[in-house]
Amino acid sequence: SGRFFIGGNWKCNGTIDSVTKLVDELNAGSVPSTVDIVVAPTFVHLERVQRTLKGPFQIGAQDCWVSKGGAFTGEVSAEMLHDMGIPWVILGHSERRSLCREDDELVGMKCEYALSQGLKVIACVGETLEQRDSGHMWDVLDAQLAAIARHTSMDHWVDLVIAYEPVWAIGTGVVATPEQAQASERLEGPGAACEVHAHVRKWIAQNVGPEVADTLRILYGGSVNEGNCGTLANLEDVDGFLVGGASLKGPSFIDICNAQN
Ligand code: 13P
Repeated sequence: SGRFFIGGNWKCNGTIDSVTKLVDELNAGSVPSTVDIVVAPTFVHLERVQRTLKGPFQIGAQDCWVSKGGAFTGEVSAEMLHDMGIPWVILGHSERRSLCREDDELVGMKCEYALSQGLKVIACVGETLEQRDSGHMWDVLDAQLAAIARHTSMDHWVDLVIAYEPVWAIGTGVVATPEQAQASERLEGPGAACEVHAHVRKWIAQNVGPEVADTLRILYGGSVNEGNCGTLANLEDVDGFLVGGASLKGPSFIDICNAQN
């Protein structure tokens, strides 16, 4: 539902040379005007990318502080990003949840604060393989969604997209297959990613509201590349992707932006 959305999460990668090259490759690519595309460089590369990357590409940050800026060494606040003209921010990525110990509550608070400052948010959820294998994945996902829903005020949902990124699929080459994605009953094991999309939409319909669920964009993230994006793009509840590794290669990312063609 909604316009197809492609996010490129550059993570902690890039030099002046590699960022310049990537921006040149993106500017040279042809992408459909019907797709929202957001790339997220590191904070230090944001201004360069903002200066050099042309439309239709939009820019996002990969994180921001949970409240108003001040004495928070090393942090960047939502109002700074907004002041800089950066429209988007990724929040709650699994790498921040696991490596930087961001919990559900903090992620929920970050989402609402960023939204309140005029940013649009890509909020990430996803389970680890251990959580999936031990039968806890639905509880984990519901708790992540509940924290986001608890904090997000009703009129901010239009500026939020959810990215479902199973941790076991990130950077591993393991991705959902169409058969698995279309199955109606619960699946086990790697490859069963997209069944979650239907669950997320249902959860949002029941706990936030059917209108929000209808228009909410639910992205899939985890080992998306130019080879598998076409199949994934056709799945019913997949409204786009959040791409890591393949977003660092201009031609691959351009191909993914054209996944629906
Ligand atoms: P990969 O595409 O490298 O698996 O990373 C996915 C991701 O974490 C995007 O945020």
